[in-house]
Amino acid sequence: MVERNGRVEQRQGDPSEHLVAVTIDIEDWYHGPSVTGAPYGAFEDVSAFFAKWNDRYDYLSEPTRDILDLLSQFDIRATFFVVADVLENYPGLVESIVSKGHEIACHGLHHACKIDPTTKQPLLTPHEFMERTRHAKQALESVSGRTVLGYRAPSAFVAGWMLDCLEDLGFQYDSSLCANSLFNKTDSQLKGVGTAPYYPARNSLEPGPSREILEMPMPHLRAILKFPASGGPFLRFFGARYILMALRQARRRGDTLFYFHPIDICNEPFPGGFTKKRPLYWAAKGARTRRQIGKILTQRDLRFCTCQEMLDRAHARLEEGSP
Ligand SMILES: [Zn+2]
Repeated sequence: MVERNGRVEQRQGDPSEHLVAVTIDIEDWYHGPSVTGAPYGAFEDVSAFFAKWNDRYDYLSEPTRDILDLLSQFDIRATFFVVADVLENYPGLVESIVSKGHEIACHGLHHACKIDPTTKQPLLTPHEFMERTRHAKQALESVSGRTVLGYRAPSAFVAGWMLDCLEDLGFQYDSSLCANSLFNKTDSQLKGVGTAPYYPARNSLEPGPSREILEMPMPHLRAILKFPASGGPFLRFFGARYILMALRQARRRGDTLFYFHPIDICNEPFPGGFTKKRPLYWAAKGARTRRQIGKILTQRDLRFCTCQEMLDRAHARLEEGSP
């Protein structure tokens, strides 16, 4: 049997057998928590932002095309977690991702936090969460022509009740958690959560018995403490060497994933005012980060894949281990 305490345990053996899913979040600068995505943002939501914003907003399309070229160059297929309102405001962008054979997953309708970043209490009812997420899933499916199987919580704020709703909506995996020693963006202690995929218990994020939804956590680097290594700021600040150390260590525990955003490689400064509130957060974006991503994707010992491939593998393992 390979399933133990809710974890899809991997057989001992060569870590090079384990997969590294390449995951990319499709969102723009204004989706961030300081602008629209959180209760403390400058605008109530994305609609309020567009009602008042008269300047250029698109800093996403060009770096996304650049990332697509990079993936084609290395013949890598990835999973793109797309904020569904990108379909309206960036005509053709998601279609261009689909046309290259990548997987489309859901990153919320408007990239809004569903739980309070401080208290972790729900900011909307499960019914409201389900209706919005159903809408996002259907919109993404109509463009991709395929069932959307995966979800990633905006800004990684996630709760056990959300995974129950996702399962009821037909999602087969979530990829939002990052168990680490520096912060916890969830409503759970994450005591039993590592870096390998696992089944969460109902209304909890701790490992539980097998069910229809699998969690694919982000990697961390264990060096006495657990340091987050989930792309985004950690990729921009600490570079490929740090991320690769974490990926190779996580790979010893099972399948893992690499994560970044196209706006991580945007060379232009984002509109002033909002990003100035977090001057360090975007400090290292641009060409340097693009080089770091390229360096990671050229590592020949890593077996890159989509989340769907990782999911298929987890299912195959469970079947293999069933009596
Ligand atoms: Zn995001």
